Amino acid sequence: MPGTTDAKKDGNIDESSYTQSYTRHLERRLRALETEKQILQAERSRLEKETQTLRTELEKLRQSPLITATIIDVLEDGRAIVKSSTGPNFVVHVASSISKEKLQPGMRVALNQRSFSVTQELPPSRDPMIRAMEIEEAPEVSYVDIGGLREQLDEIKETVELPLLKPDVFVEVGIEPPKGVLLTGPPGTGKTLCARAVAHETNATFIRVIGSELVQKFIGEGARLVREIFMLAKEKAPAIVFVDELDAVGSHRLDIATSGDREVQRTLMQLLSELDGFEARGQVAVLGATNRPDILDPALLRPGRFDRIIQFPKPDDSSRREIFKIHTRGMKLESDLDFGFLVSATEGTTGADIKAICTEAGMFTIRDGRVCVAQEDFRKAISKVQTRGTGDQAPSGIYC
Ligand code: ATP
Repeated sequence: MPGTTDAKKDGNIDESSYTQSYTRHLERRLRALETEKQILQAERSRLEKETQTLRTELEKLRQSPLITATIIDVLEDGRAIVKSSTGPNFVVHVASSISKEKLQPGMRVALNQRSFSVTQELPPSRDPMIRAMEIEEAPEVSYVDIGGLREQLDEIKETVELPLLKPDVFVEVGIEPPKGVLLTGPPGTGKTLCARAVAHETNATFIRVIGSELVQKFIGEGARLVREIFMLAKEKAPAIVFVDELDAVGSHRLDIATSGDREVQRTLMQLLSELDGFEARGQVAVLGATNRPDILDPALLRPGRFDRIIQFPKPDDSSRREIFKIHTRGMKLESDLDFGFLVSATEGTTGADIKAICTEAGMFTIRDGRVCVAQEDFRKAISKVQTRGTGDQAPSGIYC
């Protein structure tokens, strides 16, 4: 029966091709399921990690807070005297995980809330940046932006620039460069300006500290700030530390002192010890500025401290002319502007006054809707700036 055999054959072929395609279908399905399984496994491990992170975070949040403190002294038996941020001093144990050699007076640590034992070292705080100082990496101002002050600049170059740029010169001659330079003179005569310019020329970091900001409310805080400022200066070397209003911390020490005075003295002592402790020819220069050199503690002016004093007088005629030229450099001026008049009308003013006069003159020009600054604008500006200081009208006759 050939027909039956053919039909059987056909039936077998159909069945086997059906089986083959079904197998392929199952294989594809299997692969899809395997991929899906891998995706789900990855998702599971991601969720497990997330749970773990959240658990750790939760544990951290549940932990009781630590108290910050400053080490005052380390005792021979390994315990430490600390001043807690909450107030009193404590004698406390130190966790064995902290090496005793590392503990130094003045270091910041964290205390356990119950036992008050020292459990962690903390990095030195960076709060002086916010509270007491400004930092400028190589300021923009250069020597060409300073009018007059030739002698002062020469002296600054010799005492600050040379030790920073060519320390070998001092080694060869066998002398130590001056450690501290004191700039004295009325406000606005360019003391800060010169210090910034020398930082620019030496490519040094300029750290400006205001003396009155160093006087702190809490005992030991001012001294700590001074220590941290000098630590930062060494980190950022070459650096220039410029202590403005030095008289706020450096005035005469009194015999009978209140606790506030004692705190100021402590800050001064720290400043002196930083000046004394400087490695010779280090890459950190210290400049101080004051309007009242007469009230400074003689200890500050001793050799090896602020032993170079540079006086900043009010500018004379030719210096005022230069300062006017500097501050009007970027201004549009009427061609008939007489600089001789500006110089003679501003006798007794400082560089800061001249800068203010130029700005005021520009303001008068804007107010009038013009773009070129005229002599009359300067005349009004001089009158305004000169009366601002006294509260009186400017004496008549000093103008044209
Ligand atoms: P203070 O004692 O109040 O700190 P200071 O002597 O440090 O005053 P500066 O801050 O240097 O004075 O001067 C203030 C501004 O006055 C400077 O930014 C600068 O624009 C201008 N100025 C002062 N003196 C000069 C000068 N000789 N040449 C050019 N500009 C000057």
